[in-house]
Amino acid sequence: MTNLIYLDNSATTPLHPEVLQAMMPYFTEEYGNPSSIYGLGQSAKEAVESARVQVAEAIGAKPTEIYFTGCGSEADNWAIKGIAKAREKKGKHIISSAIEHHAVLHTLESLEKQGFEVTYLPVDSDGKVSPESVKAAIRPDTILITIMMANNEIGTIEPIAEIGAIAKEHGVVFHTDAVQAVGSVPVNVAEMSIDMLSMSAHKFRGPKGIGALYVKNGIRPEIFMHGGAQERARRAGTENVASIVGMGKAISLATGALSEKMQKISALRDYLIAGIQEKIPYIKLNGHPTDRLPGNVNFSFQFIEGESLLLLLDLNGVAASSGSACTSGSLDPSHVLLALGLPHEIAHGSLRLSIGEQNTKEEIDKVLELLPNIVQRLRDMSPLYEQVKNQE
Ligand SMILES: *Cc1c(COP(=O)(O)O)cnc(C)c1O
Repeated sequence: MTNLIYLDNSATTPLHPEVLQAMMPYFTEEYGNPSSIYGLGQSAKEAVESARVQVAEAIGAKPTEIYFTGCGSEADNWAIKGIAKAREKKGKHIISSAIEHHAVLHTLESLEKQGFEVTYLPVDSDGKVSPESVKAAIRPDTILITIMMANNEIGTIEPIAEIGAIAKEHGVVFHTDAVQAVGSVPVNVAEMSIDMLSMSAHKFRGPKGIGALYVKNGIRPEIFMHGGAQERARRAGTENVASIVGMGKAISLATGALSEKMQKISALRDYLIAGIQEKIPYIKLNGHPTDRLPGNVNFSFQFIEGESLLLLLDLNGVAASSGSACTSGSLDPSHVLLALGLPHEIAHGSLRLSIGEQNTKEEIDKVLELLPNIVQRLRDMSPLYEQVKNQE
């Protein structure tokens, strides 16, 4: 794997070496339980609390508004089920979008089975939710709006501040799955009028298996896990101290020099997009042309299957993703690409290349050298492509 070109940073990112270093003591000599009153426990407690400050500062929140969770999916589950349970007497209507991550969509589906009603707003062909449509969907029994900040497949960034303002004006709780956004683009919960926000450390070079939910003071979702008094008695279980420390370190590193990082990554993204557009015919860029994550490239290639593209890229040492990593193994095209209005056969031929801060221009050049040949090889096997060529 020495020469692997890793372009799947939306699936997960490599742990930052400084994050590993920060975590190490908590696997060895700093093994105390944060709930213990003697020194060893208190030192673990201090580590957890300083990580909470780091996470809070990164999104413009107060430390008392940050709750560590087992992952981004848990944060989504807690936010949505927690508000549904806490507010069901007020109403059972929830507003979301058609392009949410499965951690949100499947959670909403489980609530629908329990009698909640969900409006899934459509998106335009760039993947944008219109704030007007959010406003129009609000009813007297609406208790929650949950719309993601940035889409994991196509990279489109949603108008979260506008949606937040609408939610606030109507007194509806606003949750956003910001797992792809935190550490990649500026996020400020106060400026964006966000009540609850999900994040996950492994998407910004922290460890896997640790996330956090921001809950604005005054918002009270139902308790997630009953037991001890950890996380202000709202999420029981002895803290994952090493991972929490890692998340704190990773979020400070990721948001510390954000604009330089965004500039570097989006320059590579634009170079890759332009290169693909120049070298390969019959393609379509998916997602918003400008309001997109700095590292996201998503193309549909006509006449081929995304899965075969991935296999050949893998054989050539390039790690990428088609549709959505969570549904790979199934042959259904991604719900996100279908929501953009792409026909099935085009949605099937899609490829996501997601760039991270560790990627280099040399790697992108290598992909621009490999990809046109791979696409051509696959198209040469397609009878449909043959027909189109003959018509030209
Ligand atoms: C990765 C991801 C999640 C899930 O986070 P985990 O920590 O892997 O559970 C949720 N939402 C989005 C948008 C994601 O990209």
